[in-house]
Amino acid sequence: MGGGRRRSSRLGLLVRLGSFLAAQSRRIGVIAERFSRARRRYRREDGARIALVVLPSPDYDVATFNLSSAELAGYLRHEHPELRDGIHFIEPDIVLSRTESLTRSAGYCLEALRRIQPHILGVSAKIGSHRHLLDLLEALREEPWAQSCVLIVGNVLSTFSHDVFSERHPEALYAVGDGELALEAAYRALKDEAVRLEDIPSVAYRKEGELKCTPRRMLDHARVSWLPALDMLDTAIERKADIVVRATTGCPASCTFCSIKAVNLESQPTGRLQDMGWESYPPARTARLFALLQERGVRHVNLADDEFGNTDFRFIEMFADLLIAQNNAITFNVSMRLDAFWSPAMPAAEVARRRGILRKISRAGLQHLFVGAESGSASQLRRYGKGYPLEVNERTIDILLEENIQPCLGFIPFDAFVTRAELEANLKFLETLVGGRALFELVASPINVMRVQRATPYERLLQRRGLLRGLEDNLTFHQVEFADPRMGAVALAGQEWFREVLSLRYPIIQLYRMSQTSHAFDPASHRRSRTAIRALHQLDVGYVRAMLAVFDGDIEPAEMRDCAANPLVNGFAGLQRAREIWAESARKAEPAFAAITLGFRQKRAPLELEMRGLLDEAYSCEAETEPPRNAGARLRNLPWPVLPAHLPPSTIASPRENTSRMEPFTVTPS
Ligand code: SF4
Repeated sequence: MGGGRRRSSRLGLLVRLGSFLAAQSRRIGVIAERFSRARRRYRREDGARIALVVLPSPDYDVATFNLSSAELAGYLRHEHPELRDGIHFIEPDIVLSRTESLTRSAGYCLEALRRIQPHILGVSAKIGSHRHLLDLLEALREEPWAQSCVLIVGNVLSTFSHDVFSERHPEALYAVGDGELALEAAYRALKDEAVRLEDIPSVAYRKEGELKCTPRRMLDHARVSWLPALDMLDTAIERKADIVVRATTGCPASCTFCSIKAVNLESQPTGRLQDMGWESYPPARTARLFALLQERGVRHVNLADDEFGNTDFRFIEMFADLLIAQNNAITFNVSMRLDAFWSPAMPAAEVARRRGILRKISRAGLQHLFVGAESGSASQLRRYGKGYPLEVNERTIDILLEENIQPCLGFIPFDAFVTRAELEANLKFLETLVGGRALFELVASPINVMRVQRATPYERLLQRRGLLRGLEDNLTFHQVEFADPRMGAVALAGQEWFREVLSLRYPIIQLYRMSQTSHAFDPASHRRSRTAIRALHQLDVGYVRAMLAVFDGDIEPAEMRDCAANPLVNGFAGLQRAREIWAESARKAEPAFAAITLGFRQKRAPLELEMRGLLDEAYSCEAETEPPRNAGARLRNLPWPVLPAHLPPSTIASPRENTSRMEPFTVTPS
């Protein structure tokens, strides 16, 4: 009897606790109420406080001047000058980079927020920062002051995964696309109850469990006259952060793996979403920003534009003229498409004109050009939607090398539909000599695997073919199944091989790039690092080739010979049976893969020693000319691997991270 009473009272307690939690969850989920509480507190207190938090990815420990919060604050102050002192920046990826504490970014932000107790909190959640975001939102639920604070999450995680995050945290608004207009409207709503939730553009939120989205709006970038807020610049310079600015927005191209088309959208009166295409900020504004940065001691910037010049070479020329006229001393990197410089249909006079402008922008400070070659296979290039023939890749790389511009090639040899013939074409392409250099020397990685991002045409294609799997833990990319399981097995082995010496790969590329421009390194470092990269990438190519050779005895269906027919996408009568045979073949290949890996590791061992020695020497030489510092810290400070089209350190204002080429990826075993 006594035991029964105890059980029923425990049950009652659980029921009460359950209803309390449900009520609590409903209460915190009502965003309109949150606005009312924030408004009441704002009226009681002295002036508005807006906090802008940027959450870093633990996998990308590079101090970065966050353009997002800078652009957001610049716009807010332009529209509301009274906010001059009311905006607070909390940026652990500048302050905590290269320290153990980076992993505790959420706690760092919470401490700062307790001191500020903002009325509006904007959280920029970069790719890979999902854990920090969830930790921070969870912790904020326990903070009494945070119940009267409007929460707006932005950047890539919000733009592409607001459906998932808003289910877990319905107390926040989620900016979709650029966040400037949303944040500005939220500030107006804080001051004035006449501004309704529905009036805040480009946000998603939950109302009684249902996902709502307000119409998408975009700034008219061509009319932006104000500058981003540079409050964090001195800290960024002191921390030797990567300084990132933006001169343009959007891209007119339609690569199937890229999510840019889901970012640059504006709602039309019909309710339709329209792609707003490419647009530049006024070149004079960007030049003015360069002058200001130069005055403040900045020597190099990365332009985080998805597509710097589009095909608008008038813009490039105007920008170059302005920089030359103001004696610009800042060097910079940009990202462009290869067909901007040559295509079969481009008249010779136009090619010559563009080369002339390339020379001019180079005189103005252009140092590296990031270009997405993506593939050496015509059929894969078509599947990627690049929109130009294979010939463009080689011809343009040749032009760039002739003009003394160092191209950094984006390359994605593996995708879920890749065939053996396409992979072989990629290996051949990587070994092609252009301007006396093998192309594998110019890629960041010869073994990239496409990461399938949400809201991309490639995601939809995989879904239609039944090869799309669940989201990875990062809530941004999908797990995938390869159409040919053998190619999936090679991709997986290649990724493991790549990551085994990850701690040497990027530093050696950084050393190579730095030794070109910095007084701190000698020509010998430059030569030796180039030799090491060449040897390492050559081994990578050899490794993939050896893996493919394991399947030499397999009989391929006749349909697989016709790459142009895209057989794994379009299918053929015996495909299902072929996939079963390939899966069995991949399983049987495991011992051979292990033996090959062992052999290649032995070949790589002396190279690893050479790279380690080279890095040690280079940075101990540096210590003789500069105050001693931690070599590892210095290495990670350098711009690499900032590839604008791959990894623009973006923000609530600019969720344009096209990270389809980032590692690692997840393959679902068949
Ligand atoms: S990958 Fe680059 S070129 Fe292609 S659509 Fe995206 S931004 Fe444009």
